Amino acid sequence: MYNPKSSKAAEFIDDTEIRATLRYAEENRVNAALIDGILRKARERKGLDHREASVLLACALPEQNVALLGLAREIKQAFYGNRIVLFAPLYLSNYCINGCVYCPYQCHNKTIPRRKLSQPEIAREVAALQDMGHKRLALETGEHPLYNPLEYVLESLETIYSVKHRNGAIRRANVNIAATTVEAYRKLRDAGIGTYILFQETYHRETYEQLHPTGPKSDYAWHTEAMDRAMQGGVEDVGLGVLFGLKRYKYEFTALLMHAEHLEAAFGVGPHTVSVPRVKFADGVNPGDFKGALSDEAFAKVIACIRLAVPYTGMIISTREGAELRARALALGVSQLSGGSRTSVGGYAVGEEAAAAAQDTEQFEVSDHRTLDEVVRWLMELGYIPSFCTACYRQGRTGDRFMQLVKTNQIQNCCHSNALMTLEEFLLDYASPATRQLGERLIESEIGHIPLEKMRRLVQTHLVQIKAGERDFRV
Ligand code: SAM
Repeated sequence: MYNPKSSKAAEFIDDTEIRATLRYAEENRVNAALIDGILRKARERKGLDHREASVLLACALPEQNVALLGLAREIKQAFYGNRIVLFAPLYLSNYCINGCVYCPYQCHNKTIPRRKLSQPEIAREVAALQDMGHKRLALETGEHPLYNPLEYVLESLETIYSVKHRNGAIRRANVNIAATTVEAYRKLRDAGIGTYILFQETYHRETYEQLHPTGPKSDYAWHTEAMDRAMQGGVEDVGLGVLFGLKRYKYEFTALLMHAEHLEAAFGVGPHTVSVPRVKFADGVNPGDFKGALSDEAFAKVIACIRLAVPYTGMIISTREGAELRARALALGVSQLSGGSRTSVGGYAVGEEAAAAAQDTEQFEVSDHRTLDEVVRWLMELGYIPSFCTACYRQGRTGDRFMQLVKTNQIQNCCHSNALMTLEEFLLDYASPATRQLGERLIESEIGHIPLEKMRRLVQTHLVQIKAGERDFRV
């Protein structure tokens, strides 16, 4: 039976409740009175429950659909302003014992070269990422107890945080590794991870079992209950996600929101982020082989409805999507973007030989091939402030303390200031002349948008100090 507080996957992601919700949403897809009421509630910016949000996703009334997209833009602007946080994935190893059908790293794929980075290789990758301007990474590995045990991930985190190349530093390393134990999550927390990210792939149990036929990941409950264990292990920021394109997207959408509601009900704090990856071509993988393909139009609506349902939660889109769709997603609710990404093991290493060795280990085909500098410039041309901020996590503002900041709109003072200061660092250390010129003008005009006068003056002082060579200010 459906119970959002339960610790059992079958109860907080209850299939009967999902199906009942989808039926209710279908029955009400042209119910203008109900839909207008839900939109009114969304306008209060306190979120929607999975039933309400599912009705909006199903809504077939053109006028209400236009209103829905407009409201998502407004809410995005209200909570996140025009800041976009940037990060890059770092693939450590593609050894894997799971059989995930959609993933080229799965153990039955005998054509992909297997590779695991040594600590000196990781240090080189990190230096290359720092030279691009990155401050925030997402670590990725396959699941393999011999090649990639927890100790390897912990050692890699230590390496990553220790590299200081020129003015560079990785200030936040998020981790996307397979579901593990409370004890292991505690060790990850102690190693200073940012967000623990784990994509559910699909919430539909039968589909999940078909797509994960072998390996530890085949256990639906173990995977679905991972965030509970992470929170029990003291990881306060967790990131949810669905691999859209596998199963009917409306089912996944409803279940994803139920998962967020469960974390809120059981731990008093919802997910820190929601990712919206879509399945892509990869070695031996054709997205057309799965039944859940969704159009760009439907995908954009999913993003908007997530924004309305969980207005405080960050939303992430990767280079799986091209520039055009990413621009649309940013307007509708996405707050974090990867840039200059390589999805191969060792992909950032400089030199032709190293690049050739990495190429064949690619996890999926990237659709956005621009450099970080190009992405930064493009964001500014679209009117956004690219941010390399990692302050909240380093100030201990995680979990409910971060959410409190967002809910009380203090985010505008802190995040806006930190975004401008980290952008200044990027412009001075890594940007091309054209990007720098545009950025300096942007910072000049954006300083005035820091609400607190005292904060504004502090930021101005720090910007002068950054220009004089000092780094790493945060408020
Ligand atoms: N191995 C970890 C796990 O089991 O959760 C996660 C790391 S994996 C490198 C990161 C994510 O890439 C997966 O969770 C999956 O959603 C996504 N992925 C796998 N194959 C993909 C494909 N063909 N296209 C797009 N994304 C894919």
